[in-house]
Order: sequence, then C-alpha cells, then structure tokens
Amino acid sequence: MPLADKFGRQITDLRISVTDRCNFRCVYCRSADPETHMPSANLLTWDEYERLARIMVGMGIRKVRVTGGEPLVRSGVEDFIARLKALGVPDLSMTTNGHLLAERCDRLVAAGLNRINISLDSLDRDKFERVTRTKTFDQVIAGIDAAQASSLRPVKVNAVLVRGLNDDEVEAFASFARDRDLIMRFIEFMPLDADRSWTRDMVVTGAEVHDRISARWPLVPVVHERSETARKFRFADGRGEIGLISPVSQPFCGHCSRLRLTADGKLRTCLFSKEDHDLRFLLRGDATDREIGDEIHAIVAQKEKGH
Ligand code: SAM
Ligand code: SF4
Repeated sequence: MPLADKFGRQITDLRISVTDRCNFRCVYCRSADPETHMPSANLLTWDEYERLARIMVGMGIRKVRVTGGEPLVRSGVEDFIARLKALGVPDLSMTTNGHLLAERCDRLVAAGLNRINISLDSLDRDKFERVTRTKTFDQVIAGIDAAQASSLRPVKVNAVLVRGLNDDEVEAFASFARDRDLIMRFIEFMPLDADRSWTRDMVVTGAEVHDRISARWPLVPVVHERSETARKFRFADGRGEIGLISPVSQPFCGHCSRLRLTADGKLRTCLFSKEDHDLRFLLRGDATDREIGDEIHAIVAQKEKGH
C-alpha cells in the first residue's frame, strides 16, 4: 500500500543519512560536533539500510537521497548506491560537501547515481576555510568540476547564507551559476547548529536573495513540482538557475513528501521533529518485513502538519 499521511500527502522521497560523521566542521551544522557522534555499533549496516529501502520502495518511495554527515566518508557508499539502483529506485541523488568527490565521481556514476548536490558556502577561500574549519577549497571546486564533467545532472550547488558571514556573496554566487551553467541554491540558516548561536536576524531570506539578484539580472520563474523545497528561477538573459530554499521564512510543509532515516535507524517525519521513531530494534529483532512495513505506515500516519 502506498505511503500517505493523515493529511493526504503521498510520501515518495526518502533521505538516508549513512553516517553522522563528517570531515568538515561547518560552523552552522550539528554534525560538526564530535561529541554528538554515535557509537559505530549504533549505525545501521549496509544490509540493514538496504532492507529498509527495499521495504519502502515497495511502498512507493521513488526518490532516494544519500546524505550524512558526509556520505563519502563511509566506505562502501558506492556499493550501497548500486544496491539502491538494483531495487529500482528511479531517482538517486547525493548531498556531499564535495571534498572527496573528484576522486569518487566516476565510481558514483558507474553505481547508478543520477544527480548531485554539493555544498559550497563561500567563493572566497579564506572565508570558506573559516566556515568549514578545513583547508579544502580547491578540492571542493575540483569536485564541482568533476560533477559537471560527468553525466550527473542536474548539478546543484548549495550555500547556507548566514548574515554577516557570507551574505555579501549573493551576487557572486549568482554569477558563479551563470558562468558555470549550474543551479545555485540559497538555503536559509535553520536553528540546527551545534553551537546554538542561531538567531532570526542571522537568516537571509529567500525574498531578499531574489530581490538582490533580480536587481542585477532579471529572473524568470521555473515551474517545479509542488513538493519541491526550492522555488526556482532562471536568468532571463542567459545560462544557469537559482533555487531559493526558505524553511524559515516560507515553510514548504504543505506539500512535503519526505521522510528521513537517521544513521542509527530512526525514522524522522520532519527535519524539525521532536521525536524520532526507532526502526533499528525491529531490524535487529525478529520482525518480518511485513511488521516493519506496518510500523512505517503507522509512523507516517503521524507525520506533522508542518514545522
Ligand atoms: N555533508 C553534506 C553536505 O554538507 O552537503 C551532507 C549533509 S549536510 C547536513 C546537508 C545540507 O544541510 C547541506 O547543504 C548543509 O549546508 C545543510 N545544513 C546543515 N546545517 C544547516 C543549518 N543549520 N541551516 C541550513 N542548512 C544546513
Ligand atoms: Fe559536514 Fe555537511 Fe555538516 Fe558541513 S554541513 S559539517 S560538510 S555534514
């Protein structure tokens, strides 16, 4: 039976976090805090992820995004993508910080990955290094080059904007999208940071980004699926596209079609859920696929209306 919640929303997208570890320590991210890392034994094995994915593909999941932490730091991720492909997932994507992408891109494509999102929070090397607390700017740019040279499409580049940190780069990012003919997405800073320093005035809204870019280069709206998180625009006079992801100023919950699976096997029905639902104890007990499927249906039925 297809997955749907009590508001009638069909659930078709699954984000799988394959690790909570990361080789970056972005100032705004909770994965950056090693103290929160889970014991390795708590992380699902590839077989456990595959079993859950198979059950959920049978319930109508069409899109799977592999994420983290940083997905490329867990060895075996290419094989896992190939296993997802073999399950018949039509839309397979990954979100990565890009550091290891140049050397792994060919294997990801061979495994069946369709598209990729790469995070890049500054085009200024020093600032990039301050945000990520690493010296990896060149590797990330090489990762974007490799993705653009490969068959992965679309290639999207994500920047989280934080007022006072990188909001002066909105136009530079737009220019980057135009020069490289890629999709540049601006994400509002959400209160998910390890340091708990988030305040509302640090959020640069999608509306502000739109106004600033369109003052320089006229933008044309691009039609998108209702469940998509981004409002999309192309440049009237040329190549490239921008996406505005505004979970703070314009929550997109009404058409949300997403579920998240955490690295330790908890199902999360919203990024901001207060409660996660443990599936690992079912996987490691003697539950049948049918029983796990019934539990997933029951969890999804309780999906929050919005955040
Ligand atoms: N490590 C990978 C990366 O950075 O692309 C994948 C995981 S990361 C948690 C997924 C996305 O969440 C990235 O685009 C990141 O910039 C974004 N993110 C993390 N913390 C955020 C926050 N506090 N507000 C908005 N976006 C955030
Ligand atoms: Fe790592 Fe991605 Fe979080 Fe940065 S945003 S610390 S790269 S998980």
